[in-house]
Amino acid sequence: MSKLATLEALLVQEIKDLYDAEGQLVKALPKMAKAATDSSVREALLKHCEETKGHVERLEEIAKFIDASPRGKTCKAMRGLVEEGSEVIEEEGDPAIKDFALIIAAQKIEHYEIAGYGSVRTLAKALRLDDVVELLQSTLDEEGASDKSLTELALNITPAAMDAGMRV
Ligand code: FE
Ligand code: FE
Repeated sequence: MSKLATLEALLVQEIKDLYDAEGQLVKALPKMAKAATDSSVREALLKHCEETKGHVERLEEIAKFIDASPRGKTCKAMRGLVEEGSEVIEEEGDPAIKDFALIIAAQKIEHYEIAGYGSVRTLAKALRLDDVVELLQSTLDEEGASDKSLTELALNITPAAMDAGMRV
């Protein structure tokens, strides 16, 4: 049967995609955190990594609900976003500017997740899978909160980043 034959089949594909994306993040976020100089940036990335482990578990729970395996798909978009994060990690430069760049990379990741969870939640709603909707919504809320806190952190480190030109 085609992966796009039914909304149910589409949901399975999308859960697999999200599962792979979250799995990539569980590995990537600690590396991004380690590359951060500002302790609150580091802590925010580590805190979200812990939440991300919960996102993986929720997707496993959802897979059980819909009687499917969450494995078997690669999220290529997340690969690219994580790769961009790695580029920042390897870059040398002013610590505050690098922290800012890490926040940008992390927020791009959050926005991608928000798009994914939001639309897949709508799909689950269409299928009247209330339990699945609720689980997806819980993760979506955490992604949104993480994104907002990253914006706050970017504002907090802005004065230090503005001074970067004077340090060189
Ligand atoms: Fe997540
Ligand atoms: Fe996230």
